[in-house]
Amino acid sequence: MRFAVFTGSSDGTDGHRRLAADLASHLAAAGHGIVYGGAQVGLMGVVADTALAAGGEVIGVIPRHLVVGEIAHRGLTRLEVVETMHERKARMAQLADAFVALPGGAGTLEELFEVFTWGQLGLHTKPTAILDPDGFYSPLLGQLDVMRELGYVRPAHRDSLGAARNVEELLAWVAAYEHPRSKWTGERGG
Ligand code: AMP
Repeated sequence: MRFAVFTGSSDGTDGHRRLAADLASHLAAAGHGIVYGGAQVGLMGVVADTALAAGGEVIGVIPRHLVVGEIAHRGLTRLEVVETMHERKARMAQLADAFVALPGGAGTLEELFEVFTWGQLGLHTKPTAILDPDGFYSPLLGQLDVMRELGYVRPAHRDSLGAARNVEELLAWVAAYEHPRSKWTGERGG
């Protein structure tokens, strides 16, 4: 499988850098590829460097205008330079079999919620999860629970967003994943 990994372009905490490295080394060891935003900086860089060092496949997809700002990683298995942010996300989604979010900032949230909402609409049927051992995403998951309670998010869609506390749990959840029916069509796929 190939996992899209969404995570911060900032350095974050020591614990989150260890988490990023742990995910990357486990994925590489299990023979899974990674597709990510193609940057050399922050947690994104940690994911790429660790997976590459462990012999994993890492594909980066970066828009031309960020090649300098995010410092495109030059040692990847493949770097794809696209023209827009939208193309980047679409290409990452196309190349991935599953999506996982590590801690990050607003960009990470945007990427996560796009694939989560696309799944809700049946535009893809791929597993989407957060890897969160320390509760970083608890407030966000709590907000989704409020939305479910008030009828804004269907229970099956709320539950379709995985939240794993470690990599083993994440891989087990992905392996057992069954996509909920589309919000509008009732179909499982798009
Ligand atoms: P951040 O979590 O803000 O550090 O951003 C993580 C990654 O998400 C970086 O590669 C950003 O370029 C990317 N990003 C930020 N905003 C967007 C967006 N609207 N669409 C796609 N990617 C984004």
